Amino acid sequence: GAKLSVLSQSELYKGVRHYHKPDSRASTHRMVEKALDAIEAASDTRPPPSHLWLALKKRRHKTLTQKWCAFNWKALHSAHKVGDYWRHTRLKDARMPCAECNAPTESLEHILLECRVSHQELIWKLVKSQWELTGREWPGVTMAVILGISAFQLRDQDGGIDYPLTRLFQILVSESCYLIWCLRCEWRIGHEANPTKRHSIHEVVARWRSAINKRLRIDWKLTSKSVYKKKAIPQRIVARTWQLI
Ligand SMILES: [Zn+2]
Repeated sequence: GAKLSVLSQSELYKGVRHYHKPDSRASTHRMVEKALDAIEAASDTRPPPSHLWLALKKRRHKTLTQKWCAFNWKALHSAHKVGDYWRHTRLKDARMPCAECNAPTESLEHILLECRVSHQELIWKLVKSQWELTGREWPGVTMAVILGISAFQLRDQDGGIDYPLTRLFQILVSESCYLIWCLRCEWRIGHEANPTKRHSIHEVVARWRSAINKRLRIDWKLTSKSVYKKKAIPQRIVARTWQLI
């Protein structure tokens, strides 16, 4: 390695900066590859990375909301102010861990799939019981599936892409993750993690039902040709999505 004496001031500075802030482009690349792995595992096809970004931007048939796509984009760039984000700040001890779970890092993955106080467990139970109505096997949700949900695909028995089933899965996963995230922020930031101010089970169930019902209503509204003209979602797509449950 370079001797300290021969490093210029700026090289030294770069080195220090690099140490504090790992290459975020490399990290985003890893996240995207992880997401593509999950897509490939579920559908036997691996879309190019650009497909993921385009899907978030284009929002075909408005399956994913604008709010979700912004959330998903930030997640792929590790831009949410959770867990590791606080590592090199003076708020590290207060903000980095999940004290309730005794987890050293409150990562997005921890919040959405592991946390004991984010209500994620209850919400995923609700999703799975709703999914049972489709009569199809639950595809399972991992952080990679969540990150790649915009380009996720499920196949039917004949090996073709099952578009309505895929669309339903995308709606359920994105809406449920977004609700878990909102509940977490309301409690941890809004209520300063006050244990007496946690959302009740009743409240969480009502919020989840209302989120899914809202999506159903919006989906039908978006089929209006007189309002949305060429951008209207075809009625048969909406009908085939929701008749599954
Ligand atoms: Zn936790």
